[in-house]
Amino acid sequence: MGVVTRFAPSPTGMLHLGGARTALFNWLYARHHGGSFRLRLEDTDRKRSTPEAVAAILEGLDWLGLDWDGSIVRQSERRERHAEVARSLLAGGGAYRCYCTPEELAAMRAEARAAGGSALYDGRWRDRDPAQAPPGVDPVIRFRAPREGETVLGDLVQGPVRIDNAALDDMVLLRADGTPTYMLSVVVDDHDMGITHAIRGDDHLTNAFRQTQLFRALDWEPPAYAHIPLIHGPDGAKLSKRHGAVAVGAYADIGILPAAMRNALLRLGWSHGDDEIIDTDQAVRWFDLDAVNRGAARFDMEKLQSLNGHHIRESADSALLAEIEPRLAANHPVAATDEGRGRILALMPEAKTRAKTLVELADSLAFLFHEPPLAMTPKAERLLDIEAQARLGALFCMLEELDGWDEAGLEGAVRAFAEGEGVGLGKIAQPLRAALTGSHASPGIFAVMAALGREETLVRLHAVMVIAGERTATGEHVASSAGAEDPGRNER
Ligand code: GLU
Repeated sequence: MGVVTRFAPSPTGMLHLGGARTALFNWLYARHHGGSFRLRLEDTDRKRSTPEAVAAILEGLDWLGLDWDGSIVRQSERRERHAEVARSLLAGGGAYRCYCTPEELAAMRAEARAAGGSALYDGRWRDRDPAQAPPGVDPVIRFRAPREGETVLGDLVQGPVRIDNAALDDMVLLRADGTPTYMLSVVVDDHDMGITHAIRGDDHLTNAFRQTQLFRALDWEPPAYAHIPLIHGPDGAKLSKRHGAVAVGAYADIGILPAAMRNALLRLGWSHGDDEIIDTDQAVRWFDLDAVNRGAARFDMEKLQSLNGHHIRESADSALLAEIEPRLAANHPVAATDEGRGRILALMPEAKTRAKTLVELADSLAFLFHEPPLAMTPKAERLLDIEAQARLGALFCMLEELDGWDEAGLEGAVRAFAEGEGVGLGKIAQPLRAALTGSHASPGIFAVMAALGREETLVRLHAVMVIAGERTATGEHVASSAGAEDPGRNER
């Protein structure tokens, strides 16, 4: 029989990192073995399950690129089937009616605790004659769990794990109002969906014992279980909001690539030698459960960002353009025109080597769309001293007359200009950078000029010259380079 895995989230909130990793491992396991990966929404908790949460989970899976096979199974639509299984078990003696009232159960638990015992249900209706049922009490249906011996699981991650059957009580399968419990629903659905492997967080390990007992009572084969350790933060404490966002959508918002997220999630508890950077095709080829670690995995934001930087560098320029164009166009509509896209693509090869997130990448290119006169950072402002302004004026005239406008030609021309002025290239390139980008740091200046085009380059230079002219007229000067390093010496 082929491998069938499933991701079975309870749609009560966002898709969080733990859920995303569970989904990824199930997806990889299925893809690795040429099997299928199913999606089941465990939405039986009517009060806590919301359509918004369902939408958030589907969106998260879609963003991560984890596609499922077949249609989505909604647990809430299968209640009748779940109830039917409970009734068949009842008919065969594998379950029984329990007429305890909630008050009686509470009293029983309080008494047991007071006596230092366990607060498990004591099985008082297990063998009692239903003829003794008190009037007016709707019974629940409880599983007649084995009392002797032990239940052993050959967990694919944890190894063999066992529990004394005496430690588990007779769980409720159908509530007094006839609705099935979560534990029953999971077992029936896993069986009916033909699930062969259930990979999930190790907080479900205790459930696995109960579920296995129920499977056996129904004469069904339980899936192979693989309980993966929970995710912790870098400080070793269980992952929570204080370690950064736990919802996957937040990582999309800050510009993490799905490929980087998959890579980071994969490394949360799974390893392949010393490999850190693993693309999805390799992951599908290599993934198996024997390499899942038993110790808690640690999520590290810095590692995610550095993986993201790598995946950004590896991405095609056009793919990155598609990612950042809407981010840039939100503030600068020109970014979404052919001209705007041309400017972005011209600088992409260099810009993508520096960014750790798509937000950083977009930010580093936003200057391409700023309207002159550009706002200047203080450092850029200091680069544009009087001397520099005068040189930019002369450079402007040279550029206006220049034949052609490509990176190599511009570099040759500006170098020749610097030589003619008897100064190092930096004395020209840095003020030029400030004038064209508003900053002291940017992609290579000749690439920037080529990306902006002749007209925009000249407009930006001109805007700086106009401001310089106005300042000269009013006697207000920008500091000279001699005073530039010391803001206290701004006046000459
Ligand atoms: N619905 C459960 C959860 O979201 C998962 C149950 C299972 O994987 O068996 O934690």
